Amino acid sequence: MKIRNLNPRDGIGASAWHIEFERGRILLDAGTDPTQEGRSSLPRFNLVENRELDAIALSHCHQDHIGSLPLAVRHFSKTDVYMTQPSYFLIERVLHNSVNVMGRRREDEGILDYPLYTHREVEEIAHLFKGRKYNSPESWVTASKNGSNPVDSRLEFFDAGHTLGSAGILASSENESVFYSSDVCFQDQILLKGARFGQVKADVLILETTRGAQVIPEGFTRGLEVKRLKKAIVEVGNVKGTLLIPSFGLGRTQEVLTLLSEMIQAGEIKEQPIYIGGLGKVFTDIYDMEAPRTHRRHPDLQLSSALNLVVLGRNQLNEMRIRKSRIYVMTSGMMVENTFSHDLIVRLAENPKASVFFVGYTAPDTPGGRFKSSENGKSFSFSRICPDLIRKCEVESFDLSAHANRDELLDFVGQVAPQTVILTHGEQDAREWINEQIKIRFPKTRILQPSPGELVEC
Ligand SMILES: [Zn+2]
Ligand SMILES: [Zn+2]
Repeated sequence: MKIRNLNPRDGIGASAWHIEFERGRILLDAGTDPTQEGRSSLPRFNLVENRELDAIALSHCHQDHIGSLPLAVRHFSKTDVYMTQPSYFLIERVLHNSVNVMGRRREDEGILDYPLYTHREVEEIAHLFKGRKYNSPESWVTASKNGSNPVDSRLEFFDAGHTLGSAGILASSENESVFYSSDVCFQDQILLKGARFGQVKADVLILETTRGAQVIPEGFTRGLEVKRLKKAIVEVGNVKGTLLIPSFGLGRTQEVLTLLSEMIQAGEIKEQPIYIGGLGKVFTDIYDMEAPRTHRRHPDLQLSSALNLVVLGRNQLNEMRIRKSRIYVMTSGMMVENTFSHDLIVRLAENPKASVFFVGYTAPDTPGGRFKSSENGKSFSFSRICPDLIRKCEVESFDLSAHANRDELLDFVGQVAPQTVILTHGEQDAREWINEQIKIRFPKTRILQPSPGELVEC
């Protein structure tokens, strides 16, 4: 089979893989790169001729995996877009939200490429979306597109434990198979339980490597890290401080809300309003709705009724007085321009009684990354909108990643036992570490790291 990496950038970038089996062509994911803007955030769809695809399959509803879907559908002729059932309930909201964000960025930052697509275009492609259950294989190559003989093909979603609806994808045609891990978390999070990839086998494994460079400190466990975070939240409350936890609207927000509801339940913090953004609320409602069909802890927890969630509109946030003793769980996790966490931090940064707790991955070259590494009391360039910010508030990071750690990734390579492993979705040092370890542990495995746009044959 021929596999082309359409990601425009090394590192995390925008996930998109074009896979050409002898019989059948599939696109896995169609993301945008959150660190780039305008057209340079897009996958290189132009490298693949405008030919028919048999299917598009999506791993989960984060921007770096689905943000360019309408353009992918525009580029390739219209085809079915497969995803898990929970993703089916999320995807239109996510895409419409990106249209809104792009519109604001055009206005506020003068990025004329935006919007890259419109609300109308999202509506027009929605009929192609197909929500599927986990572990329900189905054939995806239609005989009519590929000659008269039926094709023995299979597409199957495996729970990836990363966010609601997230999946690893197994795609096969005749005698060839690919497993795409996408973003995976093997351990239980605060709410979602860990991945269920089972005993999946494939010829080619496309593996994320986000945490490949991260050494797990001796004695570290997720449970202890959760305890450390709870203790820090209690301390902010004790001094009546203001707390911001920048979080992706989908995934991190609900994990943090679950933690807060556990704390209120246990009497560790008092019952109080928790401030979130509109999109965070929409996704929280979908988390609640999908609870019976989700592999999770707290099966009966309904976040919207367990917590006093106060939804803030953008104008409200900018006009309201920032009071003491408030907890904000706001998008985006990386504090990119034109999001709640970005605007709030511009107002909170110089307040020594405010605290910012990062609980997920923050790319170094984003406002959040720069904020995290800023020095107390010194001015630094935060963002395009705010090139000069002084931080006096407290900053702390907690390692509650929704990504697998590197030893778990290596064990998974051993389990899948692929002939070829393709390393992706990680910075160079992360991919290099995994690369070296696979060479030692699985010397017969071929390791590839296709550069942006590169085609490899497997
Ligand atoms: Zn993700
Ligand atoms: Zn990702």
